[in-house]
Amino acid sequence: MTQSNTAFSAKITMVKCPTCQSKVEWSEKNPFRPFCCKRCQLIDLGEWADEEKAIPGAPDMSDSDGWSEDMGY
Ligand SMILES: [Zn+2]
Repeated sequence: MTQSNTAFSAKITMVKCPTCQSKVEWSEKNPFRPFCCKRCQLIDLGEWADEEKAIPGAPDMSDSDGWSEDMGY
């Protein structure tokens, strides 16, 4: 007798998102694996940080001393 063991065991591999430590299903459905979402992927790649760094309108610390007090006269 021959036994054909065709067991379709859908194994779901769970991984931890390296960024936010939340459980993520490692599957074809998740294009951001092992990350849970695109945001976490960007954070890990450093792109997120780059965006955060580019803050427009940084305070200009120019030494424009408009105050001229005539003291000691
Ligand atoms: Zn995440």
